[in-house]
Amino acid sequence: MTSSISARLGAMAAFPLLALTVASCQAPGTRAQSTHDPAEPWNWSDDVVRAEVNHVRAGRDLNPASWPGGARVAVLLSYDVDNETVYGLRTGEVSVGPLSQGQYGSRVALPRIVNLMDDENIPATFFFPAWSLAGVIASSGMHEIAVHGWIHELNTSLDGATEERLLRQAVAAIEEITGVRPVGYRAPSWNHSPNTLRIVRDMGFLYESSLMHDDRPYELVQDGEATGVVELPVEWILDDAPLFNPRGNSYMNPRDLMQVWIDEFDKAWEEGTMFLLTMHPHVSGHRSRIVALEGLVDHIKAKGDVWFATHEDAARYVREQAGM
Ligand SMILES: [Zn+2]
Repeated sequence: MTSSISARLGAMAAFPLLALTVASCQAPGTRAQSTHDPAEPWNWSDDVVRAEVNHVRAGRDLNPASWPGGARVAVLLSYDVDNETVYGLRTGEVSVGPLSQGQYGSRVALPRIVNLMDDENIPATFFFPAWSLAGVIASSGMHEIAVHGWIHELNTSLDGATEERLLRQAVAAIEEITGVRPVGYRAPSWNHSPNTLRIVRDMGFLYESSLMHDDRPYELVQDGEATGVVELPVEWILDDAPLFNPRGNSYMNPRDLMQVWIDEFDKAWEEGTMFLLTMHPHVSGHRSRIVALEGLVDHIKAKGDVWFATHEDAARYVREQAGM
């Protein structure tokens, strides 16, 4: 338990008094009605600053003393299967060229990725906008299907009622197609509106995977109140999309990026925590990029002492270990 205790101490040090202060002066689940001017944050009162930063925070560390089978590290591979939704569909700016890149995702890249996971016997989690779902569920059955919005809508631009309606629609669509109600939520574009976490809680999701407070699993805290929702955190460093965009300004050579993933994994292994990598089939499923994924898998398997798991299995395990 020692590693777990030191990890908990680390989490407590990172968990500020701010949250406790706000919890004592504000009803759980409500947003502060501050009269502050968003254009002048330097003039906000202490209370306003505390309330603003404390809406969604990291709570207790849920990293277990060890993972199933005594493994040192949990390896969670996730794929956001955006396809056409991010090539204009979500904004209504539909255009043939970009849409063809989206179709490449479902037509070529996703089967390539699923075949690799199946050949390597690695369970993975696939987050789908409901509009990406049709026709691509022919996987082995060991993978998890989770939800990634209705049409990859930008939830930060929606009112709460619309955001909730779209998410409920998406969950119903996935359940109808797969026969299983998804238990995991990943926000499109990895951001929450002021309503997102409330909706996620109301809908009873087991876990959320869009935030970045830690690289270990933890419990989300909303306005000072523990939510019972497990966060499986992501990071832009551990996302293929910005770094593999050949027209972006942060492009990286796939083999160089593979080394970043390997270094992240090695440190997670050393610390006995979790390695969660987000990929996109339409991005990493290209021939020159899947080489990087293959190299990473080879490295992880050679290192050994790992637990490959879906996000759902990891979330259930950490909850159980923490007695939640
Ligand atoms: Zn996405």
